[in-house]
Amino acid sequence: MSATIIDGKKVSKNIRETLKTETAEFVQKTGVTPGLAVVLVGNDPASAVYVRNKHRACEEIGFYSEVHELPEDTREEDLLALLDRLNADPKIHGILVQLPLPKQIDADKVIRKIKPEKDVDAFHPENVGRIMLGNYHFLPCTPAGVMALLDAYGIDPAGKDCVVIGRSNIVGKPQAFLLLERNATVTICHSRTADLASHTKRADIIVVAIGKPRFLKADMVKPGAVVIDVGINRLPDGKLCGDADFEPITELASAITPVPGGVGPMTITMLMKNTLTAARESVKAD
Ligand code: NDP
Repeated sequence: MSATIIDGKKVSKNIRETLKTETAEFVQKTGVTPGLAVVLVGNDPASAVYVRNKHRACEEIGFYSEVHELPEDTREEDLLALLDRLNADPKIHGILVQLPLPKQIDADKVIRKIKPEKDVDAFHPENVGRIMLGNYHFLPCTPAGVMALLDAYGIDPAGKDCVVIGRSNIVGKPQAFLLLERNATVTICHSRTADLASHTKRADIIVVAIGKPRFLKADMVKPGAVVIDVGINRLPDGKLCGDADFEPITELASAITPVPGGVGPMTITMLMKNTLTAARESVKAD
């Protein structure tokens, strides 16, 4: 079998086109331009690239966008004060603080400071709770991107055995809930899971998000399974690779996401979707 390669770039492009049209209609109808503020603290080069890409995506879709670049030694209270101003700013519907933050800043405090209705990353405890209750406006961008890819390729998780490897608050845990919400039977594996392969080998859908290059081998995958690779790892030669051993798995899986070009492009697209949702909700609230 040769797996279908799930094309995240193509799906992402289609969703962005739709968002562009919907944004133009929204602006025309309400006079409100959706606005996103992205805050970057410090000089992490990967974070700087993500922030630039987010700004570019905003421009492409027709959003107003602000980037706040703060120095590495920014004091926590100064960042919190900036968030207060952004929370109160009517031009801004979505606020995103790029993680990780320098060590003098408590990321939890920062996440809690963002007004839940502007929390387009969906990391605020209120939004996390809403996801658990199935009563949400925003979904965390990466797991939402995974669900959008499954939908785009007609892969219905209902009734399927799904294994999520990784239990972080930003990917693994919410991913498991989203699959559960779509009626999958979900197993969450992590670094303390005994005999991880015994779980993955019976899975119809595997989502791997651990940050270990080519960790998931072909002999851990059931023939015909779908493999969604969230991992982004930089190899010593500078190339990117995922958490799944891509080529051998394509021989037996029914579908797989490549890295790069799979889940990655979907994350920013889902952020754009959340920003438009935030702007829509703000108009309803007025
Ligand atoms: P974290 O480091 O926060 O979490 C990693 C998870 O993997 C933990 O739950 C850990 O288990 C588990 N894990 C680590 N090693 C193993 C192992 N050997 N076997 C089983 N489980 C293991 O990572 P994130 O969730 O933030 O990110 C995961 C990957 O996804 C990274 O490569 C990251 O770059 C990528 N990523 C990609 C995004 C995209 O847009 N495509 C967005 C976000 C992340 P335990 O809890 O027991 O320690």
